[in-house]
Amino acid sequence: MNDNPAQKIRLIMELRRQGISNTDVLSAVERVPRDVFVPPTFRDRAYENIALPIASGQTISQPYIVAYMTQLLNLDKRRKVLEIGTGSGYQTAILARLSRRVYSIERYRNLLETAEKAFEELKITNITARVGDGYKGWPEQAPFDRILVTAAAEEVPQALIDQLAPDGIMVLPVGRDSTSQHILRITRDEAGNLSEEVLLPVRFVPMVQGVAE
Ligand code: SAH
Repeated sequence: MNDNPAQKIRLIMELRRQGISNTDVLSAVERVPRDVFVPPTFRDRAYENIALPIASGQTISQPYIVAYMTQLLNLDKRRKVLEIGTGSGYQTAILARLSRRVYSIERYRNLLETAEKAFEELKITNITARVGDGYKGWPEQAPFDRILVTAAAEEVPQALIDQLAPDGIMVLPVGRDSTSQHILRITRDEAGNLSEEVLLPVRFVPMVQGVAE
């Protein structure tokens, strides 16, 4: 591990300056060692506020984006969360600290296996992850109180809307290409009505149909 405390404190201060005010989110970022989720060659940069490459041409998201999306979810320990795009597993580990259980789907088996090793190393036990196509969600475990998608679809996947519980929140990047993507927050009220907010412009890797070969 390269759990550099000085770099980490600098990162937390930067997140605060950027508008992350939820203390539970900040303390989750402080406690989850991002270096464990970063490939060895980039480990000395794990606490910089930047996205980094992981295997299979994917990326571990920028800490600010992870914190921003997590804050939008308004989590607490009673919530059951679905995450699409496990990737490195870093965002998954942050969600796991702030919710009851996280179900996470990744289309690359190798990424999933590496992420699961990190969960084991950190003794995180409230994550259930599997290989699959996130466009289909996880119907056997639905409904979910919160849904977070970490790859950009062109439109909001209908299966995910169908699997969002009343009083639920879904946060996801949506947009045709990397110049027009935005973070959306979709809220379902207790009566089942949906509302949508278009928030931050972002650049995510695309959400791709089907499981990777
Ligand atoms: N939260 C991750 C982000 C990884 S990048 C992290 O910070 O490490 C987005 C991930 O979504 C990639 O690993 C990609 O393989 C995955 N992905 C893309 N389309 C998907 C789909 N249809 N189903 C499941 N995962 C998908």
